[in-house]
Formats: sequence, structure tokens, C-alpha cells
Amino acid sequence: QHEKEGTGKLRTFEKSHKLDNVCYDVRGPVVEEADRMIANNINILKLNIGNTAPFGFHTPDEIIHDMQMNLVNAEGYSDSKGVFSARKAVMQYGQIKKLPNVQINDIYMGNGVSELISMAMQGFLNDGDEILIPSPDYPLWTAAANLAGGKPVHYICDESANWYPDLADMEKKVTSRTKGIVIINPNNPTGALYPKELLEQIAEFARRHDLVIFSDEIYDRLLYDGQKHISIASLCPDLLCVTFNGLSKSHRMPGFRCGWMCLCGDKSRAKGYIEGLNMLSSMRLCANVPAQMIVQTALGGYQSSDELLVPGGRLFEQREFIYKALNDIPGISVVKPQGAFYCFPKIDCKKYNITDDEKFVLDFLHEEKVLLVPGKGFNWMEPDHFRVVYLPAVQDLRMATGRLARFLSSYRG
Ligand code: PLP
Repeated sequence: QHEKEGTGKLRTFEKSHKLDNVCYDVRGPVVEEADRMIANNINILKLNIGNTAPFGFHTPDEIIHDMQMNLVNAEGYSDSKGVFSARKAVMQYGQIKKLPNVQINDIYMGNGVSELISMAMQGFLNDGDEILIPSPDYPLWTAAANLAGGKPVHYICDESANWYPDLADMEKKVTSRTKGIVIINPNNPTGALYPKELLEQIAEFARRHDLVIFSDEIYDRLLYDGQKHISIASLCPDLLCVTFNGLSKSHRMPGFRCGWMCLCGDKSRAKGYIEGLNMLSSMRLCANVPAQMIVQTALGGYQSSDELLVPGGRLFEQREFIYKALNDIPGISVVKPQGAFYCFPKIDCKKYNITDDEKFVLDFLHEEKVLLVPGKGFNWMEPDHFRVVYLPAVQDLRMATGRLARFLSSYRG
């Protein structure tokens, strides 16, 4: 036992101050409470995390087969930016998506997009540098910007306009310290998909304020109703764009940890940033090699996710169900998601006397054993939203929405 010098007291070990403003509630306090309940043998219906495997969405056999076949070649570290075949496949995918000016060296493979989001922010932000991030957001973006010493500034996405980013709000939030803007398209948690005109307006905004664009497109292959995804980078070859994508969602393999980021457009003013990214990439040695071995298999040819997204497909039918079932509950309204597998319903706080969304979600969890995530977990500042993951089968979604309707019929916060 050691004493803290001179004080006579044993010291405690606190988290570092770097984490003071870091918040990642998707796996936060509400989930901890659910885990406690599960440990006490209480059955919880989990609508809180975009993990495909527990809901019966499995990695395509072809991927598993090719990964197994390549396992013997995957025991060593790879090049720190990634295996050649993986980066080549990502480069070709970038060409299909019309990303301008992409060479193989512009591609960094990562242990999921998550690692690369952190890396991109660490290499980019100095203390106090501002970056525009959507509200609501996928909270890793805000957390990673904070941890990197930057200042996330949230621009509003407008529920009354399909959850599209509010350009007027962006204009209000930009300052001389703003260096970049993040978009998440298709969006988690709202399911919004951005049309070309909007992307052009965002690009024009970035151009006017000399910002780097960070575009998280991990759901770009999970779209409904025959829609097409447009990468913002394809619309602004004169700007530096960093595009993020991966296989966790489209190929139902989040546990294999496979993502990438791709720099494109005008890289001429980013020599220093690129040097920083190369250093960070070298420091982690390389991304998980077995998963890199199947990127070519995954991106080439047949896309098995397509079948899930059309009428009769599981994701399509689950989206149809959740959209209607939530809107049928008095005091709840939801915009129809266009991509991914989330929605972000609004709840009438006046009607139910809700002032704290976390309390509402906890009350619902205790009473009805269904786990949601409060809006504030996505940096949404009002207590009037929560996120639903509609990966569970329709019969489970029916149970969950039935319980929500029952719960709300007598709930007063
Ligand atoms: N970006 C978004 C918008 C996400 O929803 C997720 C996961 O849910 C990620 C990034 C991270 O994905 P991964 O690290 O599995 O590639």
C-alpha cells in the first residue's frame, strides 16, 4: 500500500481530465441499469444498439468462407494503412461512388470506422479548434472531437424537414475557429438520407468557410425504396473530403471490425494533416488483418443486403412496422427512415409531463423491460426524443411498441 506523498492518505485513481467532456451514452448509464436487471434474470427487450448478430442477421457465408481460407495468410501485421487488395477494392468502390482524385495511398483501413473517427479527429484538431457536428449525431463524433481537444459545435437537423441539416443554423454556428464539418449520411439516429441539392448546399457552405468535410457513410448500402446514395465528396472535387465507410452494417459483421476512411478532392493543402494521419496509422501498427482479407469479396459483385431492403425483406418490413406502430401511439410521431435501421421518434413532453428523457427511458425500462436510448445520448438537447433500433423481428417490435403504448397510457413523468 502506498501513500500519496506527504498527505498520509492513499490516492484514488481518477479518469484523466481529457475525458471530462467525453460522453458516449449508447453504452452508458441506461444500458448499465439494463445489464443489472439482466444479471437478476430479468428479460429485457433491447432496442438500443445497432448490433446485427443478436437479432439473427448473419455475416454472408461467402465472407466467412473467404476469411477462413485466408486466415493462414493473415497472421502477420499488414502495412499500417492496410492490405493492398482491401485498399484497392475500396479505391474501386470510391471510383464507383465518383470520389474525385483517390489514390491507393489515400485509403486507411481501420478496426471499424470507430477507430478511424478517433484517428481523424486526433490528427485534425488542436485545443479549442471547432468542428460542426450534427444534432442529433452518432455520439462517437462528439466524443472523439472532445477527446482530441477540439470543441464540437452542434448544428441542428430539422425534424420538420425530413431531419435534413438546417443550413441557417450552420451559418449561425460557424466561427473563425471552425475547421471542419461532419455529416452522417445516411444518418444514425434519424435514418435520413440527403438529396443531391442539399449536399451541394453543404459543400457550398464548406467552400465558403474553408472547411474540411468529414462524411460518415457507413449506411450507404442500406437504403430503402430504390434510392441511390450520393457521396458529398463527388460534388466538391475542390475541397478536402474524408469519407468513412465499412462492412459492420452492410455485411452484418460488426464483430470483425472492418472499416476504412478515404481522403479525396483537394489534398494539396493537407500535407501536414496527412503526415499526422500516417503517423497515427503507424502507431496502431495495422488494422485487424483477417477482416481486411475479405473486403474485395464484400465490395465486389453480389450484395446480399439488397434483399433485406425491399418489400418482403426483413429490414424493409421491420421499418414499415415500426413507422406505423410508433405513429399510432398517441403523443408519438416519427419521420420515416430512408436508410439504416434506426428511427428517432418525438414524444409529446407536455402530454406526458416529461422533463428528463433519461428518466423517461429508465421508467419505461423498469416498468416494461424494454431498452431505448434517450435523445440526449445523441447530443439532442431537448428531452423530447429517443432512439429505436428496429433490428428485432416484427413480433418483438410489436411487443415493444405494445408495451410503450400501455406504459404511456398511464405515464406522467
Ligand atoms: N458511424 C456510424 C454512423 C455508426 O452508426 C456506427 C456504428 O453504429 C459507426 C460509425 C461505427 O461502426 P464500426 O466501428 O463498427 O465500423
